[in-house]
Amino acid sequence: MDHFNYLDGQLHAEQVPLSRIAAEVGTPVYVYSSATLTRHFLQFRQALDWTDHLICFAVKANSNLAVLKLLGDLGAGMDVVSGGEYARARAAGVPGGRIVFSGVGKTRAEMRQVIEGGIRQVNVESEPELEALSDVATTLGASVPVAVRVNPDVDARTHAKIATGKSENKFGIPIARAREVYALAAKLPGLQVVGIDMHIGSQLTDLEPYRQAYGKMADLCRTLRGDGHAIMRLDMGGGLGIPYRRDNAAPPLPIEYGQVIRETVGDLGCEIEIEPGRNIVGNAGILLSGVVFLKRGEGRDFLILDAAMNDLIRPAMYDAHHDIVPVTQRDVGALVSPVDVVGPVCETGDTFARGAELPALAAGELVAFRSAGAYGAVMASEYNSRPLVPEVLVAGDRYAVIRPRPSIEEMLARDVIPEWL
Ligand SMILES: *Cc1c(COP(=O)(O)O)cnc(C)c1O
Repeated sequence: MDHFNYLDGQLHAEQVPLSRIAAEVGTPVYVYSSATLTRHFLQFRQALDWTDHLICFAVKANSNLAVLKLLGDLGAGMDVVSGGEYARARAAGVPGGRIVFSGVGKTRAEMRQVIEGGIRQVNVESEPELEALSDVATTLGASVPVAVRVNPDVDARTHAKIATGKSENKFGIPIARAREVYALAAKLPGLQVVGIDMHIGSQLTDLEPYRQAYGKMADLCRTLRGDGHAIMRLDMGGGLGIPYRRDNAAPPLPIEYGQVIRETVGDLGCEIEIEPGRNIVGNAGILLSGVVFLKRGEGRDFLILDAAMNDLIRPAMYDAHHDIVPVTQRDVGALVSPVDVVGPVCETGDTFARGAELPALAAGELVAFRSAGAYGAVMASEYNSRPLVPEVLVAGDRYAVIRPRPSIEEMLARDVIPEWL
């Protein structure tokens, strides 16, 4: 459930008509709903209320400071994958003690940054990383809490580009080698082994891969404890999918996911960490766009929007589907005809949907891409010199621009022509 609904025939974000935001901020623009963000965060909290836990929002899904502040104020921790994301989480008021640092390629500069700034735990993905982290920590006279990311070799049954838990993926340490890697971690100075970490992929719509992976995690926890490691935390990763199509069977709910965690690792007495991104913010955001032209082609019609692949790359990159709906509601039974929905960027990949069944839409009308709050604005670029897409946050009957659209002058001002040219 989200808070983007038709009221009096007009699509609203909570109580704010999207047409008002379009008129005042311009299009394209991302619009997020505070009530939906809050609701989704509280669903995870409820799913884990049987145990000590920390819900670490995966910042890479949506890193706007206002979104991070809203979630941080609700008690969320953060899962960050770069020094930049760490700085964002801190700037949003989240203490280091609630931030976990993930990623396969942490640099020494980033390690120093999070150790000095304060970090709950570093999720380490390889032996060279353990050695580098130990080195940086000892130089700083620190002791860093670490979990080792273990790759359970399960098939997450999701898009290949976002599956991370198979042995052929670059992530984590093969579970068969976990004991020797933990032995190394325990031996290295400046590291304190506190837990086990896993993340098997994104947009999972089935709980079975989780059940398999977490079962292996439970076994590993017992083995490692037997080896003398004080495993107190289990980081279960993120990845729970969301419904991208209104008419499809909905993926499992957070409460059902929490039940799988309880059934697989609930008896170990560990504090549970989860790292949901998409599930919290995906359906809390839409991309609002205006129709530029309806172009009649030979056997195909093209609805050309002012949003493009640089604003929302998921369809081009992951073959992703987003429901596209008119902002002005049509009567039930209104005529629909198939159109290809495209952006103005000069490549064929700039196609949002083929043969979408949409009602007739004229230039100047507005459409909304649903489920665009995750991996939308964060992946936007200025390709084709289109100024970076702005973001708006709605709360009840108010809204705020939480990232303004840069002017063309501002965009140009970032380039430097050397004096010798
Ligand atoms: C991407 C990622 C997540 C979040 O995945 P979602 O599908 O957005 O929930 C969590 N943890 C790690 C380590 C990730 O790389």
